[in-house]
Amino acid sequence: MSLKIRLGISECLLGKPVRFDGGHKLDRFLTETLGRYVEYVPVCPEVECGMPVPRESMHLEGDPSSPRLITIRTRVDKTDQMVHWAEKRVAALEKEGLMGFIFKSDSPSSGMERVKVYNEKGMAARKGSGIFARIFMEQFPLLPVEEEGRLHDPAIRENFIERVFALARWREFLANKGNRGGLVDFHTKHKFLILSHSNNRYGEMGRLIAGAKQVPLGELCEKYQKSLMEALKIRATAKKNTNVLMHMAGYFKNQLDHTEKAELLEIIDLYRRELVPLIVPITLINHYVRKYNQPYLQDQYYLNPHPIELQLRNHV
Ligand code: SF4
Repeated sequence: MSLKIRLGISECLLGKPVRFDGGHKLDRFLTETLGRYVEYVPVCPEVECGMPVPRESMHLEGDPSSPRLITIRTRVDKTDQMVHWAEKRVAALEKEGLMGFIFKSDSPSSGMERVKVYNEKGMAARKGSGIFARIFMEQFPLLPVEEEGRLHDPAIRENFIERVFALARWREFLANKGNRGGLVDFHTKHKFLILSHSNNRYGEMGRLIAGAKQVPLGELCEKYQKSLMEALKIRATAKKNTNVLMHMAGYFKNQLDHTEKAELLEIIDLYRRELVPLIVPITLINHYVRKYNQPYLQDQYYLNPHPIELQLRNHV
């Protein structure tokens, strides 16, 4: 891929001492592992909107869908200061070509979801989003977003990174002035990846492409991108992956000998029963793709959706 993958990130996750208490929340997976493949665009809403380090801690109060940002001890309302800055910042981020954002969980400014919002009785409900995070997600509804805490879950981590890399390939397609033929090619190469998330979505996208001649290219690409990002957000399960693996195994029915066939089916079944991770059947299929020169499968991103060094499929 020639395009650099750029991700927005809450700055304290990179180890910068910008938190209210002068500390940071360095996340080594994000800096040392994922950081080798992406370029981060750091954002600290509280510092960038003009607050000092250290500063008084704040929380959200009021209506969870549009809460106020209030300092806890002195009870100063910082909402307007934050909203005013955030609206300008997300407009500026339009030009950064971001392919996703990793937010710091639980923060009244940066938390993506389940941030505590206090009512007038001082009771908290985990129903809010940080003010900057909410404005960002409203501005970029299709961008992959996650929080560092949720990214410790292997399935969530795999899903997020898969979406980021798919979006990067899509942006590359657009940057190369992709035409209708290129779109068919893109869709074909993503067939099994999309199927591992949703059969229905794959069918819908196929119908969109089949009617492509009636739709102006710009509109077609916009609709396709929306469907792609929505489809990949649907969680891939062991059952859906098993269907895809069986489908792929069918491509070798005339090439594998009896023992190879039995071994492949056994390994897919071990994966179905969640006794081995997804990387095991994928590695075997990749081996047969090379051994028997299967060009259709060779091009499938399902077999190589992101760098193997991230080891994302070793745990799902
Ligand atoms: S959580 Fe957000 S506002 Fe708080 S220090 Fe980190 S980046 Fe800054």
